[in-house]
Amino acid sequence: MSFRLRLKGYYQRKSARLLFRKPFLIRLQQPLISFTFDDFPRSALLVGGSILNNVGLAATYYASLGLIGKEAPSGQIFVADDLATLFDQGHELGCHTFAHCDSWETDTETFENSIIENRAALNRLVPGAEFKTFSYPISLPRPRTKAKVASHFLGCRAGGQTFNVGKVDLNQLSAYFLEQSRNDIQSVKNLIDRNRQDGGWLIFATHDISDHPTPFGCTPEFFEQVVRYAMGSGARILPVIRALEVLDAPGCRQVRTPPRIVASAARVSVSQPSLKPLVSILIPAYNAQEWLADTLRSAVAQTWEHKEIIVVDDGSTDQTLAVAQQFESHSVQVVSQPNQGATAARNKALSLSKGDYIQWLDADDLLAPDKIARQAEVLDRSRGKRMLLSSPFGQFMYRWYRARFVPTALWSDLSPKEWLLRKMGQNLFMQTATWLVSRELTEAAGPWDVRLRGNDDDGEYFCRILLASNGVQFVPEARVYYRVFGYDSLSYIGVSEVKRDALWLSMQLHIGYLRSLEDSPRSRTASLDYLQRNLFYFYPDRPDIIRHAQQIARALGGELGPPHLSWDYSCIKSVIGWEMTKRIALELRTLRKSANKAFDKTLFSIDNLIHAARPLDLEARVVFTEPLPPVKPI
Ligand SMILES: [Zn+2]
Repeated sequence: MSFRLRLKGYYQRKSARLLFRKPFLIRLQQPLISFTFDDFPRSALLVGGSILNNVGLAATYYASLGLIGKEAPSGQIFVADDLATLFDQGHELGCHTFAHCDSWETDTETFENSIIENRAALNRLVPGAEFKTFSYPISLPRPRTKAKVASHFLGCRAGGQTFNVGKVDLNQLSAYFLEQSRNDIQSVKNLIDRNRQDGGWLIFATHDISDHPTPFGCTPEFFEQVVRYAMGSGARILPVIRALEVLDAPGCRQVRTPPRIVASAARVSVSQPSLKPLVSILIPAYNAQEWLADTLRSAVAQTWEHKEIIVVDDGSTDQTLAVAQQFESHSVQVVSQPNQGATAARNKALSLSKGDYIQWLDADDLLAPDKIARQAEVLDRSRGKRMLLSSPFGQFMYRWYRARFVPTALWSDLSPKEWLLRKMGQNLFMQTATWLVSRELTEAAGPWDVRLRGNDDDGEYFCRILLASNGVQFVPEARVYYRVFGYDSLSYIGVSEVKRDALWLSMQLHIGYLRSLEDSPRSRTASLDYLQRNLFYFYPDRPDIIRHAQQIARALGGELGPPHLSWDYSCIKSVIGWEMTKRIALELRTLRKSANKAFDKTLFSIDNLIHAARPLDLEARVVFTEPLPPVKPI
């Protein structure tokens, strides 16, 4: 390349990037990924669009209506009839100028006229349809062109081979052209990983999707690999305009439209009636009169129609049984037993179930309406009945529509070994209702361990499920709402001896499970971290357990120190001693949680007054961008 051309390229990139910006800050808890196709070759919709639609996803197609039906360097361009398919599948149609004008070589006036002409052409074909976003054809834009284009669209996309994070320019969003790495899937995976770590918005772009792609496209196999890896990363995958809405970008409030998620899930289940497996939703309930009705409504409302729901009332002393019985029907079965604890109630429910798959649901949690349908969609393609499906979960107290979905390292496709290493090494957990477990795995794992009455029974049970599995497939579109109450919930440990004994047993089992998968420096370190972190619960008044823990630590080649306290407790510890400090810490945590709970309940009541009866439309109100204050072990 000549010096003149290089200089021109440099000037182009610099001036386009620096001028006429529409600055916007992106820092996400749950990363975003968008798939876009420039020029809209037919194969991008018929092949690429199908790959996405089969897993319930949609893309953005940047069209130059002047190219309709033509043969372009990126292949055969779409025909008018394709637009119906595009809208029907929930994709976005974006603007790429009418004449596919070079963004740098074309003068600004001609360029803008071509945008207006494209809009008019669209209106003739699909009255009422509008372009909301734009992709610059061929080159980066001239500064003046960029300034003009800004007024026409909510967001404009260029190239740049990177993702968007921090202070970005909505007038020149970066994209990664897949064809440039079509022989190097690893670099694409690395980028998806970085986008996840940084909480960014990664926009992929390409052209045709074909077995014999043009230099501007890629093969269906490659594209599908990218889609799968993107799904496994825990990112939300949305067309550009939907992503701008999630980001609450300027001007996006007005264009917000209801998500099509439920519709697409329903379509998938209707299209394969004979293959539908039966899913058993199993709900153990103890003194849950306040929550159970909502929980049952969310189970009954599952768009996955082939289901049975079994409630086992574990000898509640309140109205739980009566609430459950109001829901009894051909698909909702309610049984009652004398109080025996959650594990026994779960085993009872399991013994009554007939499903090919099991959905566990605690009596105060909620499932998004398409939770099971979303996971069932991937069953066909997952690697057999030994694959374990998981999903994201958001935490809430009363206001489920304010649930926070905070991704962790477990929100991915993982091998059993990697999953357990991350869980134990990083102190993570997966909520019970996130799983969808096959009958085969359930039988291989055996029943719930009734010795773990009162604590971490689910942590231990799903370890055994995991050990029997071929791995975890994470389904980012399936959602669970986890009601956290802390001090009065089953999982609160406090100083109860029964719960502490159960926790200690569960911990020993966990370490055994991990070492059965891998006995390596890595697994020993994870086990030591896990012991050290949980030592707090036994210190200093359970010397029997502490001694035993120390023995295990030595066998692992390590040594346990005194438990860590956060800085605000470590100074008072030196004055009043360990025992007292711990009691104060536990009391304060209880107080803080009950204050949070009362606060949330008040806001929930106010919201209900304002909005009258709020329908349980779990889809619409999920807040992804505000993190919950971390629940740190004190
Ligand atoms: Zn183009």
